Amino acid sequence: MARGLAASQSQRLFERACARIPGGVNSPVRAFQAVGGSPRFMDRAQGPYLWDVDGRRYLDLCMSWGPLPLGHADAAVVEAVCRAAARGTSFGTATAGEVELAERIAEALPSVESVRLVSSGTEAVMSAVRLARACTGRSRVIKCAGAYHGHADAFLVQAGSGALTGGVPSSPGVPEAVAADTLICPYNDAAAVEALCAAHPDGVAAIVVEPVAGNMGLVPPRDGYLRALRRVADGAGALLIFDEVITGFRVGYGGAQQRYGVRPDLTCLGKILGGGLPLAAYGGRSDWMRQVAPSGPVYQAGTLSGNPLAVAAGLATLERLRQPGSYESLEAGGQAAAQALDQAAAVAGVPCAVVQLGSLLTPFLCPSPPADLDGVQAVDRAAYARLFQEMLARGVYLPPSPFECCFLSLAHGPSVLEELAAAAAGAFAAVATAPRDGGRP
Ligand code: PLP
Repeated sequence: MARGLAASQSQRLFERACARIPGGVNSPVRAFQAVGGSPRFMDRAQGPYLWDVDGRRYLDLCMSWGPLPLGHADAAVVEAVCRAAARGTSFGTATAGEVELAERIAEALPSVESVRLVSSGTEAVMSAVRLARACTGRSRVIKCAGAYHGHADAFLVQAGSGALTGGVPSSPGVPEAVAADTLICPYNDAAAVEALCAAHPDGVAAIVVEPVAGNMGLVPPRDGYLRALRRVADGAGALLIFDEVITGFRVGYGGAQQRYGVRPDLTCLGKILGGGLPLAAYGGRSDWMRQVAPSGPVYQAGTLSGNPLAVAAGLATLERLRQPGSYESLEAGGQAAAQALDQAAAVAGVPCAVVQLGSLLTPFLCPSPPADLDGVQAVDRAAYARLFQEMLARGVYLPPSPFECCFLSLAHGPSVLEELAAAAAGAFAAVATAPRDGGRP
């Protein structure tokens, strides 16, 4: 805080938070470390807007990182949650809503014949991999550099020095033996996956992939990439796991598997499935899923799994999304937002590749759209930090990291996107005139 200026409520809360919560936040990227400045503490939200504790309003392009395709505090979702809460917040028993949600998931994603509800995407992917290991009797999994599948040990491993390199932990605390079973390849490179499988003839349990990469910014699959992964998995006797925690119900009601016409063995869902409450799922072929306890020996359980509030929010969200026109509206909003950012960058002369797919988009501050993590490294991080701050000053909340997706919702209608265009014009103009000192604003 600059000396002489009164601290905002957010700044005061952040100081208190830092004394009691590591880094002052309960999930790292919220701390604004990639963009500088003090994180805003939010007080309430409605539709496409957030209000912070100082009463400032922001047009939200982060949208809680993806679970809110209807917008904040959607009336039908709030009503469903309130109704459920009045009947009891948790029973620790089976409920009718869970059955309905499982049926809805199977209708939307025919590959998910049987499904288990859990409470977070991390749990979903961790459990799917345990199942794949149990079903194949193998330990190794292949994941892509720059992919995020939650914070289970097996996934906190990043690329080493090439496609055939075994994993090294990217976080202290991940045992080397666990990391060694995680093999890394570049995204969008099926030949690298094939080579890894060939280099480990004693077996790979699973190929785990975000079918549309969303955790290094938005990187869509190249033509044929997902089909090639299906073929490689079949050839290697490995399970193909689609981590659709972001893409499920987002890039289409049937997720990326429907959009690209590739059927995985197991699918992980989260985010939208819980409509803003903690809910996720993993599922797939019923012969694999029958191995999960209590019908089989693969143990997995959860006190709050299938929580009735979360199930109610999820069902209300899916009910709206499956109405005709939902995805056309999300796509139109995504295109308009991408165009607004693209045009603002072009007018200001700031190199920016805006990548958009449906209601997901990322303004990569580099000249051309990346295809993998190496390409993503070309992003000008300092310029993104400046863009973030300039947008924030104009009342737009971008994701506080250059390596994330922006998420839109049905509440981001034309007038909201005009506000975005106006803010982007000013913000990109300011980025263009900022000194190139590599520092943060
Ligand atoms: N998988 C993907 C693709 C994700 O984007 C995320 C979170 O962003 C996860 C898994 C982990 O989900 P959660 O944060 O609910 O544990």
